[in-house]
Amino acid sequence: MKVERSRKLYKEASRYFPGGVNSPVRAFGSVGGTPLFIKKGLGSTIYDEDGNRYLDYVMSWGALILGHAAPEVVKAVEAAVKNGSSFGAPTKAETELAKVIAQAIPSIQRMRFVSSGTEATMSVIRLSRGFTGRNKIIKFDGCYHGHCDSLLVKAGSGAATQGIPGSAGVTKDLSRDTLVCPYNDIEYFRKVVLKYAEEIACVIVEPVAANMGVVLPHEDFLGEIRKLTAKHGIVLIFDEVISGFRFHFGGVQTLQKIRPDLTCLGKIIGGGLPSGAYGGRKDIMDCVAPLGPVYQAGTLSGNPVAVAAGLAVLGVLKNKDYAALDQMTAELCLGLTEQFDRNGVPVTINRAGSLFTVFFTSKPVTDFKSAKNADTAKYAKYFWSMLRQGVNLPPSQFEAQFLSFSHSERDARKTINAADRPV
Ligand SMILES: *Cc1c(COP(=O)(O)O)cnc(C)c1O
Repeated sequence: MKVERSRKLYKEASRYFPGGVNSPVRAFGSVGGTPLFIKKGLGSTIYDEDGNRYLDYVMSWGALILGHAAPEVVKAVEAAVKNGSSFGAPTKAETELAKVIAQAIPSIQRMRFVSSGTEATMSVIRLSRGFTGRNKIIKFDGCYHGHCDSLLVKAGSGAATQGIPGSAGVTKDLSRDTLVCPYNDIEYFRKVVLKYAEEIACVIVEPVAANMGVVLPHEDFLGEIRKLTAKHGIVLIFDEVISGFRFHFGGVQTLQKIRPDLTCLGKIIGGGLPSGAYGGRKDIMDCVAPLGPVYQAGTLSGNPVAVAAGLAVLGVLKNKDYAALDQMTAELCLGLTEQFDRNGVPVTINRAGSLFTVFFTSKPVTDFKSAKNADTAKYAKYFWSMLRQGVNLPPSQFEAQFLSFSHSERDARKTINAADRPV
């Protein structure tokens, strides 16, 4: 595996970008070494600047459910950009995309397009506060909702529920308004809701957690959250930025038949272009400007090129066989489990549809605390071993591996074969 050119490019990039990258995980900090510079992608394969090719399981962190450079998306983007890439005025296609989304996720009665998942989550927090007149919010430890200040908050020490800043620059005052609960612990959540009920504006949750590695919600976890929030007039937000259109043509909410008040989308609905959306109950969404007092805006919101990509992706996805993708991912995970067993490497593989994480621990992973049992040094070894054999995994133990409809049985077999080494 040649890395000379990537190394050189990284060195040069580091003169202009902090850590040489434009988003931290790309810097390979958790696995060591220096990042690959990617030149192009096609289907399930990416090629770097040194001419190496890799089977890709990052897939732009889940945005590319049809694979790299999907022909339908490329065609739609080309056609759109020829007619002008941005107007700062409404276009017909925005409503077309909204219709598709509203039909697939009926809780979204009104929506607004934005340019990233972070913008969507940042906006729903402001909206929930504006709608309820309350200040506090609840998030779950290990869930990631983008980098807005109120959500860059982590659990305090011990039994403290009030969060502490998850980043320098987030003020203590702000983080105190974010209450942090462990994922999958409904009794803890119930206590927090009862203690602060009248002060809580909203609860935000990844209905399938995918940012501490994949962690599935226990049966009834989401249903109980729905019941408690409804009872106390708390806005329930499902952050479906990853899960939206990932497991079927809709959200986790439509699979589990739970109706959140607001939903955030991103990644898949942008088809690999900068995009996001938030939406939900009409009475709440009507609080957004220009109808209501909660301000939110964007120069590139509903961007015609991103909207065209979104329409193209959803148009193709509508007829895709999610069950087959699910099956292929299950077989891949089974094959990996057999390899690790054979080599005596203790792992726990959590899978939801076409997302999974190999945790290097023998214990079940059900929340952030148990995720942290994983041996990150082992993961780093596994990552490099796979990369050297042409398989690109996420450069962190606490991320999901993403399959796409462009991954094949052959890709899966290649991946299983590559995992045939003790780590
Ligand atoms: C990626 C992600 C976000 C943030 O989206 P960006 O487009 O990176 O700002 C928010 N929530 C979840 C669940 C995500 O996975």
